[in-house]
Amino acid sequence: MTHATAAITRAEGQPFVLEDIDVDQPRADEVLVRIVASGVCHTDVNCRNQVYDIELPIVLGHEGSGVIEAVGSQVSSAAVGDHVVLSYGTCGVCPTCRSGHSAYCPQVYPLNLVGNRPDGSSSLSGGVRSHFFGQSSFATHAVVPERNVVAVSKDAPLALLGPLGCGIQTGAGAVLLSLQVRAGESLVVFGAGAVGLSAVMAGVIAGAYPIIAVDLSASRLKKATELGATYVIDATEQDPVAAVRELTHGGARYAIEATGSPAAFSQAVQSLGSRGVCGLVGAVGAGVNGSFDWLHVQMSGITIRGVIEGDAIPQDFIPQLISYHQRGRFPFDRLITEYDFADINTAVADAEAGVAIKPVLRIGSVS
Ligand SMILES: [Zn+2]
Ligand SMILES: [Zn+2]
Repeated sequence: MTHATAAITRAEGQPFVLEDIDVDQPRADEVLVRIVASGVCHTDVNCRNQVYDIELPIVLGHEGSGVIEAVGSQVSSAAVGDHVVLSYGTCGVCPTCRSGHSAYCPQVYPLNLVGNRPDGSSSLSGGVRSHFFGQSSFATHAVVPERNVVAVSKDAPLALLGPLGCGIQTGAGAVLLSLQVRAGESLVVFGAGAVGLSAVMAGVIAGAYPIIAVDLSASRLKKATELGATYVIDATEQDPVAAVRELTHGGARYAIEATGSPAAFSQAVQSLGSRGVCGLVGAVGAGVNGSFDWLHVQMSGITIRGVIEGDAIPQDFIPQLISYHQRGRFPFDRLITEYDFADINTAVADAEAGVAIKPVLRIGSVS
């Protein structure tokens, strides 16, 4: 048993409250991680607000990074003292996982968005649900399945790496893995938050041209320009569809929808030209429908593609993103604003207000 402090969500929409809690020892296929930092993702806020129907009380948080303190008897890929990033969970044994497409494993929803282990047990005391995205990282300690753990180099900035496990991997993977954007092809990104800006940075790596960012916020668009967008479009001032079609001489080859707004989805599809591909990345609750111009999609041979976690196999992709970062080609640290763990509610409020693009909570020290 380990004594820990965790931000517990006990009621819909209520502020996070830091409380003392006990964490079990890891089971045979789990590790105990001392959390150094955790990103705050929109999905945490959606769960707290019951956009997804998740049982409470629970410890949320799913962009954790930290140091391994203990390993279960069957763990082979990680050892005590390793620096790790925690990512999303998949079953690893179904046909989809075995074919290398585990982002679409049928167990992704139950393993990540329900809480507790698949057998219903919690690693936390007091009836509080654990294992949100296999990690519940808004806590000083977490028990995590080995499969969610990505060992990373000790010369990488561990306190900043957590968001690579979800939001940043999602945007970058959408471009590099899901859509496999090719050099010299046009890319438009709707939504310049953490996910969309990661897509912009990945577009630069891929050599896309032009890269166009669309948003409603001037400050986010400024950031998009700094990170490599060729053009930015403020959708409060001009019609993004007409602007994109003009800038790309008839329509973009690739579009990323990173807002979760049905209106932006329709615009993203309408922005595409011949054989264009739209990646549907923005998070929505159950039952949301999107619409598109049927004839446009048909006549242009357009593909609309759902994207989860950027199709990433975290153990492959996260070290790759760190390597790009270390060579100055993926400056994801410029999306991050750091907060003390105790200021978690300020971090969430700043993210909701658009003041912070990607809040990261400092929970413990690296050494
Ligand atoms: Zn699976
Ligand atoms: Zn997330």
